[in-house]
Amino acid sequence: MEKYIGAHVSAAGGLENAPLRAREIGATGFALFTKNQRQWFSKKLTEQEIVAFKEACATAGYTPSCILPHDSYLINLGHPEADGLAKSRESFIDEMQRCEALGLDRLNFHPGSHLQKISEEASLDRIAASINMALEQTHGVTAVIENTAGQGSNLGYRFEHLRYIIDRVEDKSRVGFCIDTCHTFAAGYDLRTAAACDATFTELDKVVGLQYLRGMHLNDAMKPLGSRIDRHAPLGEGEIGLECFRYIIRDARFDGIPLILETPDETRWPSEILLLKAALDSTDCG
Ligand SMILES: [Zn+2]
Ligand SMILES: [Zn+2]
Repeated sequence: MEKYIGAHVSAAGGLENAPLRAREIGATGFALFTKNQRQWFSKKLTEQEIVAFKEACATAGYTPSCILPHDSYLINLGHPEADGLAKSRESFIDEMQRCEALGLDRLNFHPGSHLQKISEEASLDRIAASINMALEQTHGVTAVIENTAGQGSNLGYRFEHLRYIIDRVEDKSRVGFCIDTCHTFAAGYDLRTAAACDATFTELDKVVGLQYLRGMHLNDAMKPLGSRIDRHAPLGEGEIGLECFRYIIRDARFDGIPLILETPDETRWPSEILLLKAALDSTDCG
């Protein structure tokens, strides 16, 4: 198995530009928004747009396993109020359907927030119900829950939250999760050394199960362990440090899924990708 290493690239000017941009920076995987992430809805994809995207992916050598689409930040599948919840669900189903139309097999999203109006558990129940609705109305696309830093009232900062949601999803073959290293660290799980990574990923496997892992976001963290603040830093320039990223790259448990940079300075993505690929190469010589 290989490592699919890339970044969250822009799809400005047409979705087919995302794989082309990814190839330009030396990426073997990528993430994208399939529509403007600041809007609830956008116009239906045309056959022409779909074909252009699929052709560009094929030309650049990207299969669905290397690609991690991300949904809009407006969506809150655990919304405490009926209107906000209904709009979020409608928009999420639209996002899942866009992925299906594009031949993509997964959609990465933040679980949701209780907005201090309902309990964590009530909000988590809504998230699970929202996923069940979306899976009923789509085919072949896995709902990929991202862990969060736990900023504000965002859920998903404990591995137990991911477990709780997955337990309540009916079709286990189409639910998974994505681990963001910055969010994990901000939520209080240490990743600074190989030993800390061992402990954190062992706990993740025990609580959720690594068989559900469908992608990772590789970001260093600007704020200290357990800060609950989500601020990404370039690799090696934050509180986590390079050892964690080398560990992930060298570990076969993280093969065959998109490993995506969301680091702040995109001019540095080519060198960050090279740094990660170098860690991979060095495993060959022991
Ligand atoms: Zn995210
Ligand atoms: Zn992320």
